[in-house]
This record gives sequence, structure tokens and C-alpha cells, in this order.
Amino acid sequence: MRQSRHIGGTLREVPKDAQTAAHSLMLRAGYIRQLSAGIYSYLPLLFRTLTKISQIVREEMAAAGSEELLMPALQNKELWEESKRWERYTAIDGIMFAFEDRRGGTVCLGPTHEEVVTDILRHEIKSYKDLPKNAFQIQTKFRDEIRPRFGLMRAREFIMKDAYSFDADDAGLEQSYEAMRQAYHRVCRRIGYEYRAVEADSGAIGGSGSQEFMVLADTGEDTLVYCDQCEYAANQERASSRLETFDQDTETRPMKAVLGENLIGVEPLAKFLGIPVWKTTKTLIFEADDDVVAVMVRGDCDVNETKVRNHLGCNVLRLASAGTIKELTGADVGYAGPIGLPERVRIVADHYVNDRVNFECGANQTHHHNVDVNFDRDLPRPMFGEFKLARGGHRCPQCEGRLQEARGIEVGHIFKLGTKYSAAMNCRYLDANGKPQPAVMGCYGIGISRMAAAWIEQNHDDRGIIWSPQIAPYLVHLIALNPEDDTVRAAADRLYEQLLREGIEVLYDDRRARAGEKFGDADLMGMPIRLTLSKRTLEQNQVEYKLRKGGESELVTPAEAIRRIQHSAGSAQAAQALRS
Ligand code: ATP
Ligand code: MG
Repeated sequence: MRQSRHIGGTLREVPKDAQTAAHSLMLRAGYIRQLSAGIYSYLPLLFRTLTKISQIVREEMAAAGSEELLMPALQNKELWEESKRWERYTAIDGIMFAFEDRRGGTVCLGPTHEEVVTDILRHEIKSYKDLPKNAFQIQTKFRDEIRPRFGLMRAREFIMKDAYSFDADDAGLEQSYEAMRQAYHRVCRRIGYEYRAVEADSGAIGGSGSQEFMVLADTGEDTLVYCDQCEYAANQERASSRLETFDQDTETRPMKAVLGENLIGVEPLAKFLGIPVWKTTKTLIFEADDDVVAVMVRGDCDVNETKVRNHLGCNVLRLASAGTIKELTGADVGYAGPIGLPERVRIVADHYVNDRVNFECGANQTHHHNVDVNFDRDLPRPMFGEFKLARGGHRCPQCEGRLQEARGIEVGHIFKLGTKYSAAMNCRYLDANGKPQPAVMGCYGIGISRMAAAWIEQNHDDRGIIWSPQIAPYLVHLIALNPEDDTVRAAADRLYEQLLREGIEVLYDDRRARAGEKFGDADLMGMPIRLTLSKRTLEQNQVEYKLRKGGESELVTPAEAIRRIQHSAGSAQAAQALRS
């Protein structure tokens, strides 16, 4: 492609609203243009990268036995009512774009496709002999995210690969899930991410087990924890951990309320009271749909809201407002405790709150703290569960190792759905005894457009993007310096034609622009190999060869440059083959 005709000019200025490297670099290097909040055009360079990522995903889906189709983005309300998700996706979460059509019907733009695919397969599957089935598509999804941000990372319109498996039983689902899991690992390895697969929460999609594929990056929206000794790795929302436990007092002391003004943080409070932090208690008040819940965790921990939400089975969980807290506890924020709350407040507590003798908790009176509190005597034992947030430094739930914390970008998510959709939507087959059974489903998503952003987040420097040959828009950026010089232009044109004849993907900077601008743009755009042709190199019948990812520039003959390019394209393929 001749750059003089290319659509997607570069920007020198860092866009003000771009908070991450990927977002800023994609805008600056001419990969995307914003239309409105969370809505972007994919300009030609990005489109090429998306096509390459899609191709890798297609190959791995096919290898895992999934068949490609394309379902409608425009769906109807009735279908979503069958699965009982309409309310949740519209009124409750508000994630779905829904509107009236001229026929008086209500339609929506698909945020995901469980309903549509189940509708297709319920007409397809008759007997156990028709199973298993597995279908995937690469398609635009629509989600009215509350906080669209970071460019393509969290957009309102984005490209996803979604696959759905249908099996006769759980054993079949295990096999389908495993094949998809392996395919996801191969996709991540072929692209070349530094990533981790982690146990995940199933969220609104529902189901019994799920894993996320996380590209490691400090700006990632997700936190993951992993063990430094075993394979354990989980999204923090889902993670378990073990805490240090301590010897307890052998005698209980009488409970008393202590005045400790403005001691809200557990550290200063523990210091003031002369007790270890683990003896303090955090009691957080939440509104859970129409109920109010107090959640207790040990003072050295935080509450895992996902676990609380899952335990309560509520749709919306949010911290109560200062006003509500005052009304319920009679105290300002920071002094809530489990003793003396109104009856309608349900109390749940993390396991590690239990088994403590003489502990502290808020006294429901501003500036006051109860000390030497004991269960059974001062308050009944609440419902216990795992409600604390797992953290780096905690013990692994599976071995003696320690958990580490990292930030990640979720690029893929695989779920065991079970029969949630097939039962609700009557997608059944006749088993060997002629008895109808719901198909057992799995679903598997990869954010194609988010993957491109995640690559940049992980692979850039202060000058710009650093693509790998696998997903670079073009392998080679050919630069003609001073192309207004006829000999330079003619030679560069010849080399360009030759590269094309060799089947090498090349972006040719034939623009009349300064050398500094051309080099700056090439670094910003990030093609793996840069070839520069100038009057000086021509005098020696040579061309300058330079890798974007470090490395000195070298003068080589055009033939040698082509040999190296072919070698690097070949070795990229070989590396892909090896990694997969
Ligand atoms: P998140 O937790 O990031 O909101 P999700 O769990 O809702 O994502 P899934 O339903 O699992 O997303 O979707 C499958 C994949 O689609 C995700 O792993 C992610 O890569 C991608 N994806 C989801 N939401 C977005 C979005 N708003 N913008 C870009 N990609 C997205
Ligand atoms: Mg997900």
C-alpha cells in the first residue's frame, strides 16, 4: 500500500481522553477514529490486524471442530424472554441496546448469542445421534457499557468471536470445553501474548465453571491472583485464599465500648486499642436489591462483592449511602458493627471472622468501638461463608505457596453453561431410550478487537507500537527518503514492486515528507521491519534494514533484505507452528 494514498494519518499530540497506551497509540498511529463514546471506526491498518487475529482464531476453531456461521445482530425480545434474560439485560443491567421497530415489536442488538444459537440448534438436534455440535461466528457485538473506556478495550460496539457447544451429557461438555480451552491457549501462544488462564466467575451468563484468558498488563481492568508454587490462578473476583491464623486468648473478657474519635482505618484503630489488626472487624453495609445486608470481614481484609452477590443471588449490590448507614446504625460511616442493627439487616460474615476470642467491631455509635466481643455471648453467630477478597501475600487455597497479584486484560472467556438455556428454551434431543433430554451447552468468547488493544498495551515503547509479524498490519514498512529525487523514487518504486511480487506485505512511504517525520511515523505505526532507501544507500546499491523491536540498522543489498524478510516471515510461521 502506498502511504500517500493510505487512510489513517498520524497525530503528534497525545489525545487528552486516552488514559492507556493502547488507546493513545491507536489514535495517534491512525488505527482508529472515534465516532461517539465507545464507538470506533477500524481504519485500514487496524482492519488488517483484526483480519489476521480472526484468521488465527478461525484456524484454531476449525482445528477444534467448530463450524463457522453468522447469526443476526438484530434479535427480538420474545427470544430473550424465553431464556428469562430480557429483564436482566435491559431494565436491571441496562447493557442491551433495545428499541421498537415499525411493526410495534421490540428488538435489540445482540450483546451475546446464547438465545439465537439455541434457537437454531433446537430445530437441528433431534436425537443423541445429532450430537455433539459446535458453532462459532466472528461478529460485531453491542453492549451499552456504563463506562466505555480505554478505546477498543471497553467499547460499546466491538468484534467478538463466540462459539457454542451442544453435547448430550456432562462428559461430552467436558470434552468440548477442553478442546476449546486448548484452542484458546493455542490462539494466545500463536499471537505471542504473555498471558495466564485463570478460574473465573460466571457472571450473568450463568453456568457451572469458567476460565478467563488474561493478557498481563499493569493497566488491565482485572486483578488476578496466582500461586508462586502451584498451578492455581484465578480472577480475584473468584479467587479463594487462606489467611494466617493466630493463637487466641484463653479467657474471654467482658465486652465494652471504647471512645476512639475519628479512628476509621483499621491500622490506626488497632494501634490505638493496642490490639493486632486481625482482631479488628470491618462491617460493610450493602443494599442488595430491596434488602440490606451487613458483611463482616477480618480487619486486615476487604469484601469480595462478587462473592456476596453470588451468595445472595441478588441482581444489584451496592454499598449503602451515608444516609442509609446513619439511618440503620445511628452512626456515621465507619462505625457500623453487627450488634444492635435493626432486624431487617441480614448479617453474613467471612469464615476468618469466626474463631476469634475478644475481637473488635464497630459499636453503631459515632466514634465508638466495641472491644472484647465474643460470638454466642454478645451476638449470635451469623451465616459464614467466604466473603473476603483474596490478595497477594495470602496463602494459596491449594498448597503452601503464597499468592501473587497481577493486573490483566480479559481477552477470552470460556463457560460451561450446562442446561440453563437448553432447558429454558426447550432445546432437547431424544436419548437412547427415546426420552427427551436438554442439550448440555458451553460457550466460548474471544474479544477480537480487544485482543489488538491488549497486544499494544503489552508491546509498545515511548515511540510507538511494536507489532509481531503474526498480527502486524504489514510486515515491512518501506521508506523512500526524498522521493522527489527521481532516482530515489524510481529505485524505491522498483523495490516496492519487487516486494509485492514476492508476496511480502508492505506499506510504502512514498510521501513527500521530512526524514524525521517518516521515521517517527514508522516507529509509531510499528511494522516489524523497516527498509529505508535514500540517495546515500543507493550510491552503494544498498538499503537500510532495521527491526522495530530493537536492533541496529544495517546496510544490505535489496536481495539480502528480501532474503531476511522471507526468513523472518518463515520463522514467524515456524514459531507459530511450534508454539501451537
Ligand atoms: P468484561 O468482564 O470485560 O465486561 P465480559 O465478561 O462481560 O467482559 P464476555 O461476555 O465474557 O465479556 O465476552 C467475551 C469477550 O468479549 C471478553 O473476554 C472480552 O475479550 C470481549 N469483550 C467483552 N466486553 C467487551 C467490550 N465492551 N469491549 C471490547 N471487548 C469486550
Ligand atoms: Mg467475561
